[in-house]
Amino acid sequence: MKLNVPDLRKAEGKFVSYNSALRLNIAGNEDDPMLKINLQAAYVPKMVLIKGNWEAEIEGECSRCLEKCRYLLTENFYEEFKQLNILGESSGKDNGIIAEEGEMFVFRGDTLNLNEYFRQSFLMSQPLKILCRSNCKGLCSVCGANLNYKQCNCSEDDLDPRWNLLQKLKEEQ
Ligand SMILES: [Zn+2]
Ligand SMILES: [Zn+2]
Repeated sequence: MKLNVPDLRKAEGKFVSYNSALRLNIAGNEDDPMLKINLQAAYVPKMVLIKGNWEAEIEGECSRCLEKCRYLLTENFYEEFKQLNILGESSGKDNGIIAEEGEMFVFRGDTLNLNEYFRQSFLMSQPLKILCRSNCKGLCSVCGANLNYKQCNCSEDDLDPRWNLLQKLKEEQ
């Protein structure tokens, strides 16, 4: 996703809306996630501000029952990009490339290329835990049955003897 900075500058101080679908380059194939981006951008002197949110439908594995499931990942963002050179000044192959300078993002040229920014944003928003449904019952710890589909007849007594030993130790404490 690329923003044309001279266009933004024509509406200096005002937020302009963009809607964009961005295929991320993670594995380099068609399984890579698609981000739907709602973005507002504004040019203020020597700076481009962006704010908005993105969402992506992801395929993952439920942390409880290990089934494959699809879920929606969303993230809000707000960022400032400092422009290093004068508008219109040619900056060759550095054009649009964003770098980090201390705490700040900086870029050169007339184009603000946000692809890498959104790739990082996506990678950093990965959940630690995925659930196929909020009340997923998980797997039986004895027979491994998926308790969302069937109720097995296992009881706590069928637990691995090693667990029983642990239980006993616990009770003796
Ligand atoms: Zn599950
Ligand atoms: Zn069971």
